[in-house]
Order: sequence, then C-alpha cells, then structure tokens
Amino acid sequence: MKAAIISDIHSNLEALQAVIKDIKKRRIKRIFCLGDLVGYGANPNECIMMCTSEAKIIIAGNHDWATVEKTDVSVFNPVAAEAIQWTQKQLNKGNFGKLQRLKLTSSIEDLFLVHASPNKPEQWEYLFSLDEAKCQFEFFKTQVCFVGHTHVPSVVYQDANGYTDFISDNPFPLIEGRRYIINTGSIGQPRDLDPRASYAIYDGNCRSVEIVRLDYNIPLAQQKIIDAGLPEVLADRLLAGR
Ligand code: ZN
Repeated sequence: MKAAIISDIHSNLEALQAVIKDIKKRRIKRIFCLGDLVGYGANPNECIMMCTSEAKIIIAGNHDWATVEKTDVSVFNPVAAEAIQWTQKQLNKGNFGKLQRLKLTSSIEDLFLVHASPNKPEQWEYLFSLDEAKCQFEFFKTQVCFVGHTHVPSVVYQDANGYTDFISDNPFPLIEGRRYIINTGSIGQPRDLDPRASYAIYDGNCRSVEIVRLDYNIPLAQQKIIDAGLPEVLADRLLAGR
C-alpha cells in the first residue's frame, strides 16, 4: 500500500489544492487525513468538501471538534477561538454533520492514525520532545503511527530495547524491529519556519516514508483571511511559517 497522509489543513484551500495536485501527479491513490480540516483559514466549507471527496479516511482534530462543540473552545487562545466562532457561522449543515461524525483514531494495515497522541487522543496533547513521544509507543500496536497537531514535521523511532530517538533523514526506511511516530507537519499552517505545505508519503511496498514540502499560493490564502475579517495575524503567520 502506498498512501499520502495529510494533516492540519485549517481551511487553507490554496495549500490543500496544491498538495492534492501533487499527490495525484505522483499517482498515489490513497489519502488519509489526520484532522483539523478547519480553523484559522478562510475556506472551511471548501476544505471539508475536498477532504471528504479525496481522502479515504478522515479523523478528528481539536479544531474540528471545537467547531462542533465536542471539545471545549475555552482552552483555545483568543485568536484560535475567534477563528472557531467565525467557522461555526460559515459552515453549512452538511459540513457541520461531517465534522460531527469524525472519529478520534483509525487503523489501516500497519498504520495507526491519530491527530494528537495515541494515549488519550481526546486530550489533544502535543508531542514535541523525545520524552513526550517516548511514552506513547505502548498506546498503539502497529509499527507506524502518524500524528499531526504540532504543525512541525518530525520522526521518532523506538527499537526493541526501548531506545528512542529522532530521525532527520528524509526519506527514511522503515526498519524491522523498529516502531515509528511520524508527524506529517501541516498543510495549511506550518510552524517550523518553513512556510511550505507539509505532508507525508508512506510506501508500504518499499518500506519507506518521505516528508514532502510544497510551495503554494500563500498571498492568495493571506488575502482571503484578511477579506474574511479574520485576525490579521493568521495571514502573517502563513508567510513566516510559525
Ligand atoms: Zn492544527
């Protein structure tokens, strides 16, 4: 199985379109989406429509659940909360229902998919450090777990002795006896100071994974945010990649 894993689209249609086009150009048939379809950007309905028509699996992110009031928005920062309230007003009934039905996790073949963390996914923990990732391996059974949520692409492996470390090679092989937590980075709002959209390609036949970065029309996505009356800082950060 070969699959593209996308996450954290955040209503950024320009970034999503560029990524879907790239995935199709590579003739990859399966797309799995790790959630946060909405929040921050100006095209929530369009992004939900595109994700549901293109992705075979979609799981819930904290912004999706906050939009449909399954997660408490009071823990969000003021700008994020404002974007959630704006999104709630934009969504049509059908798309609201689509977000409402998203589940927290999914498994397919040797992959476990979750937005934030395998342990207690509904608590939306952030896995930034090695220590934060290390204790998560016992909460999934597959060789590979894909996550999003931090908007920072990263790869952590654990060997049979429990030794855990980051991998910086890209692409990198999936080695027997090792397990992996792979953060795909964000399509619509990267935060690793690289503004390009980020997603992952899993190649189950060659046993390898690649993190792909892709240019997209950032000025257009920024202009739409400003025209929508969303906080301007949400436009600024797209170009800064943070
Ligand atoms: Zn997110």
